[in-house]
This record gives sequence, structure tokens and C-alpha cells, in this order.
Amino acid sequence: MQSFGGAVMALYRGFATTLQFAFQKKPTVQYPSVRKQHAPRFHGLHELRRYADGKERCIGCELCAIACPANAITVIGAENAPDDRRSPGERFAGRYEIDELRCIFCGLCEEACPTDAIVLTPRFEMADYRRGSFIYSKDRLLVPPDAGVGAPPDERPGGIPADLGWVTEQKSTVDIARGYDATYNGAKLKDEHKGLTLQ
Ligand code: SF4
Ligand code: SF4
Repeated sequence: MQSFGGAVMALYRGFATTLQFAFQKKPTVQYPSVRKQHAPRFHGLHELRRYADGKERCIGCELCAIACPANAITVIGAENAPDDRRSPGERFAGRYEIDELRCIFCGLCEEACPTDAIVLTPRFEMADYRRGSFIYSKDRLLVPPDAGVGAPPDERPGGIPADLGWVTEQKSTVDIARGYDATYNGAKLKDEHKGLTLQ
């Protein structure tokens, strides 16, 4: 059992600790009116990119699903029709889903993708009430047709996308604004001043 003196010392130490922090600058941020900056390589909600001509970058190869350590990605490829080409490859993603509740935002899908189709954006506000809402299918992941970037590989010798690695390069900077500009949804967040406080 603690002596009377020991109890007084414990109380003293407790109050001293409280006092020490009482006059320090508070780390609390008044979210959502104030948002903290996060790193340029911050991994948030995914997006599926397109080429400048509107074609989908995803060729349904399933490499992202194989690389995913959380088994969060489902890809079912479909054949492109000659009169309705969705992607420059033979196949496109007939079905593409990410279960964001399983996702650990490691970025391995981004690394594995041979066409820079799946990328992680800085968007982190995904709260919802139903588990099913966290399964993001293609209609929520794919950027609009006019938001594509880069020449498709079928217009290039060797069939390699011209800007392969561009997103990673943009994100690997210490310049936060460049990190946001690397993705369509990141640039949108920057324009709306959401999730980014440029200091
Ligand atoms: S970020 Fe990681 S865990 Fe999430 S879908 Fe991609 S590979 Fe899977
Ligand atoms: S997102 Fe990339 S890795 Fe995944 S299926 Fe499409 S092309 Fe393949």
C-alpha cells in the first residue's frame, strides 16, 4: 500500500504534468473548417484514370488484384468490341471494384498497374453509414471522359503509355500542391480547398 507521502508525490506529479501542458499550443484542429496538410504521397481513395482520348487505361489484367495484400480488389476483364473500344488493349475492366473497408492504403495496386490506371488520390473523407457504401465500383472510381491524360499506347511505337510513372513522379516530390495535381480528384480537392491548407 502506498504511504501518505507517496500519494502526495503522485498527486503533485499528476498536477505538474497537467500544468505543463495547460499553457502549450493546442494540437486540436477545428476540422472540418480547418484541415491539416498531409504529405504529397498521402494514400487516400482510389481513382481509375483515362487517356486523353477518353479511353480507359485499365486493360483488365488483374495485376492490381494479385498485388493487393488485403484482397480488396475485384477485376473481371471483358473483351473489347471492334466497334466499341473502351481501352487500347484487347480487354478492359468489365467489372472493377475496390472494398475500401478492406483496403490498407498501401499503394501496391498503384505500383503494380502497367498502365497507371489505378492510382490513390489524397481524398480521405469517405465516412458512410452502410458497409455496402464502401465498395467502390467502376462508376465511382472512373474519372469523367474529358478528364483523361496522356496519349494511349496504340498511338505510340512499342505500345508503352507515354506518361508511365508520371503520377508516382509527381507524388514523390515534397511539393504538396504537385502531389495533389497528380490525380484528377486530388486537383479537384485542391480547387475546392478541401483536404489541403496551403500555408
Ligand atoms: S492500396 Fe493496397 S490494400 Fe488498398 S486496394 Fe491497393 S493494394 Fe489493396
Ligand atoms: S487497374 Fe491496372 S493492374 Fe488493375 S486490372 Fe486495370 S490495368 Fe491491370
